[in-house]
Amino acid sequence: MPYTPPPLSRSISSSTLRNHCQKKYYFNYYTNWLKKTNADLRLETLLLKNIASYKMWIGTHTHFILSDYLQALKTWPLDPSSLKRITDLSAQVMSQEFDFSATRQYETYDKNQKFGLNEHAYNKELPSEPLQEAIRIVTSNLEAFRSSALHEDISTYIRDWHRVFIEDKEPNFEQMKVVLDHVPELSWVNIRAQPDAWVVTKDGRYIIYDRKSGTIRDERRKNPLSEQLKVYALKLLTRTKKNIEDISIEWYEIYVPSMEIFGGEIQDIHIQWISDKIISDVTTISDYLHDNDVSTNKPLAVEKFLRTDDTKKCDTCRFKRVCDKLKTFESHTLF
Ligand code: SF4
Repeated sequence: MPYTPPPLSRSISSSTLRNHCQKKYYFNYYTNWLKKTNADLRLETLLLKNIASYKMWIGTHTHFILSDYLQALKTWPLDPSSLKRITDLSAQVMSQEFDFSATRQYETYDKNQKFGLNEHAYNKELPSEPLQEAIRIVTSNLEAFRSSALHEDISTYIRDWHRVFIEDKEPNFEQMKVVLDHVPELSWVNIRAQPDAWVVTKDGRYIIYDRKSGTIRDERRKNPLSEQLKVYALKLLTRTKKNIEDISIEWYEIYVPSMEIFGGEIQDIHIQWISDKIISDVTTISDYLHDNDVSTNKPLAVEKFLRTDDTKKCDTCRFKRVCDKLKTFESHTLF
């Protein structure tokens, strides 16, 4: 039976990945098309698609522990044992995942063996005592949040909430959808965005929070209005069916552990900018699809997706293995 691709998906991460390396974008979003090139290569790509770097893994667990903590804050006053339960659970899950990653095999695809660390798959160096170090970082990220000025604000909002949303740990694709059916250029596109948390205060203000880890780029210092948060605001407007003039939306990007905050109030100009940016991105993506047809989402031949010139990016790329193997197939016309 011919393969039916899923709809084209546009998110900040897909757009960032495409700019980072087109080949990596292909491996991630068009994995099943590799079957035409080589069935084993597709399976190996599926295997590598599920692995994460040690740094990303720490970021994911920071996200989880903060999500658990925010959920617990809803039950005020916070049970004294709750904090211990949250940190113990985080350490337990991380230990299980780390042990699994360290002992699993990385040669043959097994759909039941999903989790893995890039460093284990590629035999790369990890810090000494890597598990303890990762647990320490995640726990101290939670502590950085708890001792920040922002903690008091967020706790107050959550306690006196009118409505509060905290992202689930498991992705909920339905909840992630940004419904833009009224825009003809986007009618076939699956647009996804989900902030870590947002609250509606009693006086009707919408406040969106998103956590970030890692280095704060110069670009963010120059321009505190991140693209990602503008998408969240757009999503909020489409969900509430309100115009930006009738609603107050503030949004904040919080860097953990420094707790530096970037953001502000959303204006009409931001909504217009992000709407245009999404359409422009989809137009660019369509250049890599057969007949520029977004509705079929059928990619051009894999060799049309270029490798990055910046080989430093390859040092940490989870697809390095398959990317190298693919070179032997790419001299042929495949489609
Ligand atoms: S190994 Fe390098 S060129 Fe290949 S997909 Fe990864 S980043 Fe791109």
